[in-house]
Amino acid sequence: MKKFLGVCLFALSAFNVAQAHEDNLRLYTLDCGDIAVSDMDGFSSAGDYAKTSAKLGNTCYLIRHKNGDLLWDTGLPASLVNAKPMVNGVFSLSMQKTLVEQLKDIKVTPSDIEYLSLSHSHFDHVGQASSFASATWLVSDKEQKSMFANEKSSAQFSAFKDFKRKTFTGDYDVFGDGSVIILDLAGHTAGHSALQVNLKNTGTVLLSGDLYHQAKSRELKRVPRFNHDEKTTLKSMARFEKIAKETSARVVIQHETADIKKLPKLPKYLD
Ligand SMILES: [Zn+2]
Repeated sequence: MKKFLGVCLFALSAFNVAQAHEDNLRLYTLDCGDIAVSDMDGFSSAGDYAKTSAKLGNTCYLIRHKNGDLLWDTGLPASLVNAKPMVNGVFSLSMQKTLVEQLKDIKVTPSDIEYLSLSHSHFDHVGQASSFASATWLVSDKEQKSMFANEKSSAQFSAFKDFKRKTFTGDYDVFGDGSVIILDLAGHTAGHSALQVNLKNTGTVLLSGDLYHQAKSRELKRVPRFNHDEKTTLKSMARFEKIAKETSARVVIQHETADIKKLPKLPKYLD
């Protein structure tokens, strides 16, 4: 009997190992559009980007945890798909495929997704949020307050009015096990955040939000003119770099095409 029990326990633990492997946290990269900028002046308060142009990518991410799915950012509006690039000031915006269509390729539907969180509430990050209205929106108090600060901005974010939401201050541990953490890195907006994802094989990945828009902005510590607060941004950059160093993180700047190119394309993922 003892021997039988031993064999059973062995089989059970082997099963658990297999399960644990199956349950590895996964990070999928989603295409959230392209942003051509004819004059980058607004992206550096030092004035050194004036009259330079850039092609920025735009990415969103699906994090699959054994206890739920988190969608990080929702990109440009779905209306850009199959349309001419939309020109708005220095920006020319385009998109190939909606998030919903991309998720179909990995057999995920919007109703499967438990949590939605946005690095911040700018137009290139909130565009397709209304497709995920059944998710619980994880939002910092500071960002939420700024989004609904007045009638005009409240109207702009009316899609969020009916979301179930979980608000928090500071950092937020999404699944309560330290694997996925929303980092309070304010300054770009009042409640801007980045995402730390601790993967088993890849190690720590830091998704920058718009703390930086390009690798050179990270090198030079350039702060956009349109940021909510420059001093707070610089403090957040210092904190981000400390975390990156301590965790030997792979840093992904969400708009940096060089970083985006190196990420696995659907249906592939990092784990
Ligand atoms: Zn952005």
